Amino acid sequence: METKSPKPLTLRQFQDRFPTEEACLEHLMRTRYGQRHTCAKCEREAKYYRVKARRSYECEHCGHQVYPTAGTPFEKTRTSLRDWFHVMFLFTASRNGVSAKEVQRTIGVTYKTAWRMARLIRSYMGYVNGDDMIGGPSIPVETDKTFVGGYDKKGADDKKVVLGMVERDGRVIARHIPSRSGKFVVPTIVQNVRPGGAVVSDAARAFEALEMHGYHHHPYNALKGEKGGTSVIEGFWGMLKRGINGTYISVSQTHLQTYLGEFEFRYNLRKQPHMMLPLLMTSFARGA
Ligand SMILES: [Zn+2]
Repeated sequence: METKSPKPLTLRQFQDRFPTEEACLEHLMRTRYGQRHTCAKCEREAKYYRVKARRSYECEHCGHQVYPTAGTPFEKTRTSLRDWFHVMFLFTASRNGVSAKEVQRTIGVTYKTAWRMARLIRSYMGYVNGDDMIGGPSIPVETDKTFVGGYDKKGADDKKVVLGMVERDGRVIARHIPSRSGKFVVPTIVQNVRPGGAVVSDAARAFEALEMHGYHHHPYNALKGEKGGTSVIEGFWGMLKRGINGTYISVSQTHLQTYLGEFEFRYNLRKQPHMMLPLLMTSFARGA
């Protein structure tokens, strides 16, 4: 029987937990240093007390000061920690992503600041998600290509190719590749999927070389009504496209992989949605 995982925080619960700048700084301090830690200066096990009028804490023995924001992305921004945390909340509460416009409206910063915040949060989502390979013997993987985007400002075709790989009950990996030829498809699979297991794809020629690389390739032909297709990866494409076409409208070549990281993060944590925000906040605190 599957145990039900705890629910993620509602906006109300989130606001109750981080009502002030002070509460956010405290969270950052505890996340980075715990309740007590060995002081870097006097080398004694110490409790740290908040220094008023600064964003720092000091050692109970020698007064050595620690700045919880030092070395994190929060250090050099004028945006409050409250706003940062709020936008992280939005990103983890949303299914389809959060546009810079929405960030701008919600916390009242300039569009430029909002865009930068969104980009950074997205890249940290990808960082939390990591680069671990999927699949392997007895873990079937579905793979498929899709196009995202549409036309650029001049009306020229601006579609980009994305290759997806997913364990049927597990993790997804999505990679932006230059074209759908086997020259890019197969090496991307080799890089991300452990050999020895079944790889299911459509019958496109790009996948033909998979057997040579130690996979059991199962091409199927949907037009002939063959079963066992790629419905899991198609589910992921649905999510990705609702996000990219619905929320982000146009995604440049340069940033596409970062957006893919955001959607991988959401998909891969779908069974522990309550972990999304804590993991993201911790990654920021560590200054990845
Ligand atoms: Zn000390």
